[in-house]
Amino acid sequence: LFFQRSDGRVHPGSNNNNQRCSSVVVKVSRMKDEREKRRARQVEQLQEKDALRRKYPGNPNWEVALMLRQYRGTLNFTPLRSLNPRGAAAQQITVCVRKRPMSRKEVNSKNIDIITIPTSDSLIVHELRLKVDLTKFLEHHKFRFDFTFDEECSNALVYNHTARPLIRTMFEGGNATCFAYGQTGSGRNHTMGGEFFGKIQDCGTGIYAMAARDVFEEISRPEYREIGAKITCSFFEIYGSKVFDLLLPNKPMLRVLEDGRQQVVVVGLTEITVTKVEDVLRLIEHGSKERTSGQTSANAKSSRSHAVFQIALHMPNSWGPYGKCSFVDLAGNERGADTQSADRQTRIEGAEINKSLLALKECIRALSRQSSHLPFRGSKLTQVFRDSFVGGKKNKTCMIAMISPSMSCVEHTLSTLRYADRVKELIAKEDDAL
Ligand code: ADP
Repeated sequence: LFFQRSDGRVHPGSNNNNQRCSSVVVKVSRMKDEREKRRARQVEQLQEKDALRRKYPGNPNWEVALMLRQYRGTLNFTPLRSLNPRGAAAQQITVCVRKRPMSRKEVNSKNIDIITIPTSDSLIVHELRLKVDLTKFLEHHKFRFDFTFDEECSNALVYNHTARPLIRTMFEGGNATCFAYGQTGSGRNHTMGGEFFGKIQDCGTGIYAMAARDVFEEISRPEYREIGAKITCSFFEIYGSKVFDLLLPNKPMLRVLEDGRQQVVVVGLTEITVTKVEDVLRLIEHGSKERTSGQTSANAKSSRSHAVFQIALHMPNSWGPYGKCSFVDLAGNERGADTQSADRQTRIEGAEINKSLLALKECIRALSRQSSHLPFRGSKLTQVFRDSFVGGKKNKTCMIAMISPSMSCVEHTLSTLRYADRVKELIAKEDDAL
């Protein structure tokens, strides 16, 4: 500093010189402070890196874990924890996403959770990408749905926001449909059928049981009891273009026909009258066993079929059900990619699954548009649910897309979310237009 003497005193120059000198001193000391802060930050980051490296010894994904931690540190978390007022009043079409927790196997194999759910309706997928110089970076794919459930959300919370509002629809004379969509292992069975404790499933904690409880509570009201309204259940499976009754031994094949009034009928489908929740659970247990019987691996074939559980409300002396509530455990969406398989049968099944899931998406989009053109003939699945896609505002549909949190499933997860997003995208645009 040429304004200072060697003894540190400032040169007795003009006032101007003094001012310039003090401003330079301030600037230099600010730069020094910033440098120190930067160095402290670098030391902190190195320590954090070191801690992570120690936490994931030998884990090639530790850099991803670090990037994720830094990204998540910048977010404000307000996830769904209790019944959101929006949950009570169902829209005609609701699309939600549920993330399951990391399994012990995934944690042990040093997989990483790449899904962030910051709020009750948003979700981010962090995809690992490589730059041209091979340095790693995360691409953040952001999505928005009606509700997003993180790994802490219980089945009851999911039920309250998704299927519960549909029960009213059935009592109001409409067709309500709840689809569980996702790849095999993403949590469809856990959500619909109930929580697993080891290999044992507690059926009382699934959406089927919770819905049955609400149905019986509703029908026990005097206005229904006095007229003798009753509830029946059916359970069937759609495998390729064939329909099988899951409530009869050896699941016989059924035909799907359209009657004179263009109503689609599954001919000969078993309908069993039920009077309590336990009856419903017994039927589900029986049907699920039929669904997987005769298979070498329980997941092998059941993930290639759509399982439909229906609860119907019947009024005395009336033709057909007054209202219906259907729960559909859709085939694993990864099976749609089996079209490249070496095995011909697997290829055909993959193509059928693909066709049905695409047709379903188009039908839901047509429902949201109130379009007169309904492409329900595109697949057996949509043909069976024709009545749910027509009939105007009194029909309601809900889709719960299940996703795995693990980095190894990122492609299927993105495919699931893009599918769900396509259904929602149109609805959002129409809402904006209103
Ligand atoms: P899918 O029916 O989609 O093939 P599952 O429901 O069988 O998948 O789930 C796969 C595994 O993940 C099961 O062991 C299940 O217990 C577990 N799982 C799924 N969702 C959850 C969840 N929300 N909480 C805890 N465990 C879950």
